[in-house]
Amino acid sequence: MTSTFKDEVLSRRTFAIISHPDAGKTTLTEQLLLFGGAIRAAGTVKGKKTGKFATSDWMEIEKQRGISVTSSVMQFEYEGFRVNILDTPGHQDFSEDTYRTLMAVDSAVMIIDSAKGIEDQTIKLFKVCRMRGIPIFTFINKLDRQGKAPLELLAELEEVLGIESYPMNWPVGMGKEFLGIYDRYHNRIEQFRVDEKDRFIELDENGEIKGESPIKQSSLYEQALEEVMLLDEAGNEFSKDRIANGTLTPVFFGSALTNFGVQTFLETYLKFAPSPQPRNSNVGMIDPVREDFSGFVFKIQANMNPAHRDRIAFVRICSGKFERGMNVSLSRTGKPMKLSQSTSFLADDRSTVDMAVSGDIIGLYDTGTYQIGDTITSGKEAIQFEKLPQFAPELFVKVTAKNVMKQKSFHKGIVQLVQEGAIQLYKTYRTDDYILGAVGQLQFEVFEHRMKNEYNSDVIMEPIGSKIPRWIEETQVNESLSSSRSLLVKDRFDKPLFLFENDFALRWFQDKNPGIKLSNPME
Ligand code: GDP
Repeated sequence: MTSTFKDEVLSRRTFAIISHPDAGKTTLTEQLLLFGGAIRAAGTVKGKKTGKFATSDWMEIEKQRGISVTSSVMQFEYEGFRVNILDTPGHQDFSEDTYRTLMAVDSAVMIIDSAKGIEDQTIKLFKVCRMRGIPIFTFINKLDRQGKAPLELLAELEEVLGIESYPMNWPVGMGKEFLGIYDRYHNRIEQFRVDEKDRFIELDENGEIKGESPIKQSSLYEQALEEVMLLDEAGNEFSKDRIANGTLTPVFFGSALTNFGVQTFLETYLKFAPSPQPRNSNVGMIDPVREDFSGFVFKIQANMNPAHRDRIAFVRICSGKFERGMNVSLSRTGKPMKLSQSTSFLADDRSTVDMAVSGDIIGLYDTGTYQIGDTITSGKEAIQFEKLPQFAPELFVKVTAKNVMKQKSFHKGIVQLVQEGAIQLYKTYRTDDYILGAVGQLQFEVFEHRMKNEYNSDVIMEPIGSKIPRWIEETQVNESLSSSRSLLVKDRFDKPLFLFENDFALRWFQDKNPGIKLSNPME
């Protein structure tokens, strides 16, 4: 194998941004793409707020919401690195795909709004990153506004998320009095709203400003110095290894909107973020520089063109080089395939990919061949990457066919969509009612839409609210314990579980039935 292939792989950095809606993910992404030259103007990355929709053929729901496949993966080059940013949608668009996207990255960037601290969705996404042990880089945003005290934010990281942190830089003031950041890593001060040529002030070996500078007179500078001293003495030590194994998060302060601290963040991030990592499979670890092409499907996006019913299967390349027209096989079925129709992703348009390597994401046009978690490989050996975890749904609906005469298409549709990983299906014990579970509302909408359009089946969806699913041992099934507050159902593998109405119902049940062992696959 030539060294150029290896160099290509080593230049990849593939990450997702995790955050709660409104923390500034879109804004930061745009700034990063601007640095990389992938876009020319801010406002290009589509968010649902902009009301700008992509071209004509997206599925109706996507159009209404302004989501597009094009913003699912963005790629740009910077200083010899090729960076892939994978989108993790928020709000109503939150779905199992959002979680699974985190299976396809090598690191994550966590954005926190300095005024709000750590919010719900950040916690959920963080847990998935934690489970994988991937490095997490924290960007605390909106320093141009008054927010929580920096020390308080660090305490939240430890208390709410349970991760230790190392501040790479430290704010000097904030809001109206934001003067800049004290950059511990580069031993310099980066001044806010100061021209590029004067922006950086070097520090001496004691970590103080050399010579004269107006910022030196400020009490905010004094305060920052004191706090940095405190961090030096009582804070965590910097450790490259602990960053790499995800037990220490480097923290960067900045302001995405004013493009402050973003470039420093990007450059430092690229230094410490991992290149594509080996992946576990049924034949052991697969090295990213191994010659045979391999990858797995982590997301299937329904769409696209109603006339063709096609969808895009997103594949994370784990080894080798992808070339258009190459022959591969699908490990699950052993079926040979030619990968001729594929697409790579750049900020604003879909472009055809000719070559991609480990770490990159390719989109394959899919007419129903792929399932979530599928492995494809060009090698002779039918390798299968480790199964993707299941994520416990939180929202549930009861689903029935509107037209009782059309039960057949109704069942076919449900079975296929569930197999594809679009949604979770549960059945009640006595009455065989169908209950669907999802982590976000959009999954239900997509399900309903696809049942109608692809299977010609109108469905009735009755929300039964949010539930807490807990699995039990098969030997412990006792149908008399099923009630509306603790509904006993089986999942698609016939494994029994209870859907509890709320935390209270769960605790009450546990008190009454201490012998029943309840488990949650997320924990
Ligand atoms: P997302 O929902 O996480 O993608 O958040 P957006 O990037 O859309 O940002 C949400 C809002 O916060 C928008 O109005 C942004 O202009 C604003 N915003 C983002 N970054 C900053 C920042 O650094 N400072 C301030 N003041 N506002 C910001």
